[in-house]
Amino acid sequence: MEKYRGLFINGQWKDASDGKKGKVINPATEEVIAEYAIATEEDVDLAVQAAQKAYDEVWSDTTPGERAAMLYKMANLIEENIDEFTRLEALNCGKPLSRAKGEHQYSIDCIRYYAGICRNPEGKSTQEYMRGITTSIRREPLGVTAGLCPWNYPLMMFVWKAFVSLAAGNTVVIKPASITPLTALYLAELAADVFPPGVLNVVTGSGSVVGEGLCKHPLVKMVSMTGSSETGRRIAELCSGTLKHAHLELGGKAPNVVFNDAIVDELVATMREHSFKNCGQDCGQACRFIVQSGVYDEVVQKMTEMAKAVKIGDPFAPDTEQGALITVAHMKEVQEYVERAVKEGAVIETGGKRIGDKGAFFEPTVITNVDQKSEIVQHEVFGPVVTIQKFETEEEGLAMANDCMYGLAASVWTMDAKRSLRMARKLHFGTVCVNTYSGAPAELPWGGFNQSGYGKDMSGYAFEEYTQIKCVDMAF
Ligand code: NAP
Repeated sequence: MEKYRGLFINGQWKDASDGKKGKVINPATEEVIAEYAIATEEDVDLAVQAAQKAYDEVWSDTTPGERAAMLYKMANLIEENIDEFTRLEALNCGKPLSRAKGEHQYSIDCIRYYAGICRNPEGKSTQEYMRGITTSIRREPLGVTAGLCPWNYPLMMFVWKAFVSLAAGNTVVIKPASITPLTALYLAELAADVFPPGVLNVVTGSGSVVGEGLCKHPLVKMVSMTGSSETGRRIAELCSGTLKHAHLELGGKAPNVVFNDAIVDELVATMREHSFKNCGQDCGQACRFIVQSGVYDEVVQKMTEMAKAVKIGDPFAPDTEQGALITVAHMKEVQEYVERAVKEGAVIETGGKRIGDKGAFFEPTVITNVDQKSEIVQHEVFGPVVTIQKFETEEEGLAMANDCMYGLAASVWTMDAKRSLRMARKLHFGTVCVNTYSGAPAELPWGGFNQSGYGKDMSGYAFEEYTQIKCVDMAF
């Protein structure tokens, strides 16, 4: 069993106030690997009070340079211990080691980026906007912010929620997803040597008690959540009670519009990563292929061959490309999506089944003959499943791509420069790629339109969202 840590509140570890614990499962073996504390409302209040006290007494007086120094120290500590973070993520999420390590290297870079951008916040200058009065326009922190994390990228999402907020001068309470608390708790252990008590708190427990408790707490000024659209709508409703800022990074159903002049081999090579990475449990997963009739057969054939070649297996084996899904229950939901699609007439070109009978392993799946309005095209499956549809005209392809409630990411594949510009303008998604698929470096904003939520993670835009603007008018 992995080490039990408890709740990290005010720089100390404590059990839940009623002593309750939950079990952490390895999705590749279905074995119990650890226990975590299930916090109560009382624990949530303790964490928020600690964060408020730390904000009032310590953190709000720090300079950007002082905060940046602590963020760099934190990034260095994660880097020094990256192998342990990688082992824990692979164990808890079924991710292959090389992928988990890559995610952590990226997270370290994000922390260093936030440390850099907090040094010189941008804004309008102090000026005489009214005669005889000097107005100073200040960018200030919000106070206590809460971060609610999903299970698909546990450490990365923790980093997105916690460190931009700390860099902006807020204190934070982070709730990891119930099923993936291990790297968050390990990070908290290292953070105890970096940040003053109460600045960074980690509270494990359920969405209904810890998540909702943070959304309702009057001292929490902002809730930043990455998760499903359904949970996002509930959080927005709860935040309205105290008019908190809600920052919502939600689901996706990314279309990829492929024209007759696309370089199909480049498309398919790119999609080996972006359709199936993390077993398709990725908000930006390229999962809807909308293909012009002239290359439709070639795309179906090559995507099918590629999906068959993806190497699924033990997360700890060096040659594994994709590991297990997050739980057997989630894998069964993915399977049910596929089965319902087949009942509606969909054709499975490859995949569609569980691999073995132990662990949450599922075949990379390519599905054709689907209707635009069908569930498999419209709903986020969050598994290694892609659909391929056919279109004739540019207008038709564009309409099919936009006909979806989500708006996170999209791509266009064509060698016609003017058409790519037209498509990039008219696709209603937060990120649109042309002849490539999305990377998301720390410098670039990531976030959706429509039911994919609002608010941007990363980039200077994210930094600004964790601050508020104050005018100070001074007569002379
Ligand atoms: P989820 O069920 O919506 O949960 C997200 C977080 O919210 C978890 O910590 C969860 O706690 C908590 N939560 C659940 N119900 C809550 C409530 N009523 N009030 C407050 N908090 C609540 O999402 P998930 O299944 O973990 O993650 C998968 C989803 O995340 C997918 O839809 C995916 O597309 C999305 N995602 C989006 C992005 C992006 O950048 N847009 C990135 C990654 C993932 P529990 O774990 O305890 O339930």
